[in-house]
Amino acid sequence: MSDYPHLFAPLDLGFVTLPNRVLMGSMHTNLEETGDWNRVAEFYAARARGGVALIVTGGMSPNAEGGVFQGAAGLFNQRDIANHRLVTDRVHAEGGRIAMQILHAGRYAYNKDCVAPSPGKSPISPFPPTELDEAGIEKQISDIATAAARAREAGYDGVEVMGSEGYLLNEFLVTHTNKRTDRWGGTYANRMRMPVEVVRRVRAAVGADFIVIYRLSMIDLIPDGSTWDEVVQLAKAIEAAGATILNTGIGWHEARIPTIATSVPRRAFAWVTRKLMGQVSIPVITSNRINTPDVAEQVLAEGCANMVSMARPFLADPDFVAKARAGQADRIAPCIACNQACLDHTFAGKLTSCLVNPRACHETELVIEPAARPKAVAVVGAGPAGLSAALTAAERGHKVTLFDRAAEIGGQLTMAREVPGKEEFHGLVAWFGTMLAASGVSVRLSAEATAKDLAGFDEVIIATGVTLRDPQIPGQDLPNVLNYIDVLRGKARVGRRVAIIGAGGIGFDVAEFLVTGDSPTTDLAQWLVEWGVTDPALAPGGLAPLGASPEAPLREVTLVQRKAEKLGRRLGKTTGWIHRATLDMKGVRMIGGVNYERISAEGLHVSYGDARERPELIAADTIVLCAGQLPERSLADAMLAQGRAVHVIGGADVAAELDAKRAIDQGTRLAAGL
Ligand code: NAP
Ligand code: SF4
Repeated sequence: MSDYPHLFAPLDLGFVTLPNRVLMGSMHTNLEETGDWNRVAEFYAARARGGVALIVTGGMSPNAEGGVFQGAAGLFNQRDIANHRLVTDRVHAEGGRIAMQILHAGRYAYNKDCVAPSPGKSPISPFPPTELDEAGIEKQISDIATAAARAREAGYDGVEVMGSEGYLLNEFLVTHTNKRTDRWGGTYANRMRMPVEVVRRVRAAVGADFIVIYRLSMIDLIPDGSTWDEVVQLAKAIEAAGATILNTGIGWHEARIPTIATSVPRRAFAWVTRKLMGQVSIPVITSNRINTPDVAEQVLAEGCANMVSMARPFLADPDFVAKARAGQADRIAPCIACNQACLDHTFAGKLTSCLVNPRACHETELVIEPAARPKAVAVVGAGPAGLSAALTAAERGHKVTLFDRAAEIGGQLTMAREVPGKEEFHGLVAWFGTMLAASGVSVRLSAEATAKDLAGFDEVIIATGVTLRDPQIPGQDLPNVLNYIDVLRGKARVGRRVAIIGAGGIGFDVAEFLVTGDSPTTDLAQWLVEWGVTDPALAPGGLAPLGASPEAPLREVTLVQRKAEKLGRRLGKTTGWIHRATLDMKGVRMIGGVNYERISAEGLHVSYGDARERPELIAADTIVLCAGQLPERSLADAMLAQGRAVHVIGGADVAAELDAKRAIDQGTRLAAGL
C-alpha cells in the first residue's frame, strides 16, 4: 500500500476521474510573455510527466482592462489559441490534465484602464480604477465566459475562475471595495451576484463535461472582509451555478498578514477550508504552505479537504508526485517558501525560477545531459554552491569528490536554519544530504583541502564561501562584541540589550533570532495570535478585533546601518515587509544614517551625517557584527599562483549580495557545462 493512501486515492468528478488528490496551483511565471511557447509547453509537460493530477496555469487575462499588467497574456485570438494548444497537447501527451486560470485583476491591475465595482485605488497599486457601469459589468462577464470557451477550444480540460486574493470578483463581494447601490451592491445577495453570474455563464459557455474550478476567498484578512456565513452562502451559490470544484484562496494581496512566506507555519490555513467541508457536495481544495507529501496526506486524512493544492513545490521539484508514489519522498527537492526566485521575480517582471531548482522555467535552456567524457572533479566547499555543483556533476556521470573543512554539509544554510521562521532550511540541508548519499559523490568532511590534495583532478571547483568583513570600528575587539556566527551557533552569551551593526539579510535574521523565544512558525496557535488571525466565523475576514498580539521580545534590540534609507529596503520584494513588521512587533529600534564612532563597555557610540553630529550612545550589553562578507579565496589564489586552472563559484567568487539562489544557480550551471 502507498505511504499516502489519501493522497493517491482517485477523485471522481463525474465526467472525468483524477488519478490522485494533488493539484498544481496557479503561478504566474512570466513564461507566456516570452512568446516562446515551446518553453511554456515544456514547463507544464515536465510537471505532467511528474504525475500531478491536474495543473492550473498562471492567470490569463480575459481582456485588456483585467490584465495584471499591460500586455498580460490571454486568449484573445486564434493565434493565442494555437499557442495554448501546444501546451495542452504536450501535457496530454504526458498523460496529464491542465486547466487555464482566468484572472481578472480588477483594481489590482497595474494598468491605467483598470476597472472595479467602485472607485478608489488599492493600497498596492498606483492606478485608480474606473467604476464599472451596467454595460461594463456585462462586458466583464461576457469576456470571462468567452475566455473559458476559448480555453476549451485550445484543448484545456477546464478553467479556474479566480475569485479570491482581492481580484475583481472578490472586490464585488465585500463592502470594503463594493460601495454600489444598484443590483450589484448593497445586500450580500447583490454583492455576490457578479461571481455567481460569472460561473453560470462560464458553465453555459463550456458545456457540462468541462472542469470549472472556482477559487473562493475563505478568509480575506482585510477589514470589512466576508463573514463566514457569507463564505458558505457564496460556496453554495457557486456550486449551484455549475462549478465542479471549489479551491481555497487565503488573504487579499493587500492584507498585512503573511500567508505563504516561509515563516508561515505549514498548512496554516487548512483549518479554514475544513470549515467548508460538508457545506457543499462538490470537492473542496485546500492550499497554502503545504510542501511535503506527509503534510498533504495529513491534511486529507484529517478531512480538511478533498484535494490539496501545491504551487511552488512544483517549481522546486516537477517529480513531487512521482517520487512520493515511489516511496522516495526524501528525494523531493523541498520548496522552502522563500519566494526569492519565484514571486520576487514575478513581481519584478523577471522570469520565475526556483532557488532550489534553477531549471524551473528554464527546462529547455538549462539541460543536464550525460557528460561526453567522465572526468575526476573536485569540489571544495559544501555550501549551496558546492553542493549543487557536486550533485549536478555527479548526475552527469563525473566522478566527484567533495571536500569541506566543517564536520557537516550546508555552509551558510546551517546558520540560516537556526533563525526562527527559517525552519525550512533544515529540510533543504537534509535533502542535499540524501541526494549526496544517492549520487555516488565521495564526501570528505572535516577535511581542509590543500592545493596538493587537488592535484590529479581534471576539474577543480572552488566554493569556499566567505569570510567576515572587518568593519574596523574602534573598540570592536572588546569582549562585549560578537560576530553573527557565534550568535547563531549559540557559542556566546548575548546580553539583554543588543546593538546589531549591519541591517542586511543577516542583521535582520540575527535581530529575529535575538528577540524571539519559541518560534511561532512551529506553533500554529501562537502564530495566529501573534499576527491577529481568528476564525472568520468570529470576526469578518478573520481579523482578530484586538489585532496582533506578539509575545514579549526576549531582548531590547537596536538594528543599525550607515545608509540613510529605510532599513530592510533591499530585502526580498514579497518578504521584506514581513521581516520589518516582525521586528516592529517586537519593538526593535531601527536606525539608519549613522557613523560608527566607537564601541565601549557601555555600548555603541554613533553620530549622524557628514558633519558627525548628534553623538549618541546606543546602550547595549552586547554588540553583534553583521557587516557583510568578503570572498574566501585563499585556496583559489594559491592554485592560480601555481598556474592551476580552477572554477570559482558562490561567495568565493562574489560575496556581495550572495544568496543561496545565486549560489545554487551558479553551481548548477557550471557543472552542467563541464
Ligand atoms: P549584506 O546584505 O551585504 O549586508 C551587510 C550590512 O553590513 C549592510 O547593512 C551594510 O549596511 C553593512 N556594512 C557593509 N559594510 C560595512 C562596514 N564596512 N562597516 C559596517 N557596516 C557595513 O550582507 P549580509 O546581511 O551579511 O547578508 C549576506 C547575504 O546573505 C546577502 O546577500 C543577503 O541577501 C543574504 N541573506 C538573505 C536573506 C534573506 O532573507 N533573503 C537572509 C540572510 C542573508 P551599511 O553599509 O548601510 O552600513
Ligand atoms: Fe519555493 Fe523558494 Fe523555490 Fe519559490 S524560490 S519555489 S519559494 S524554494
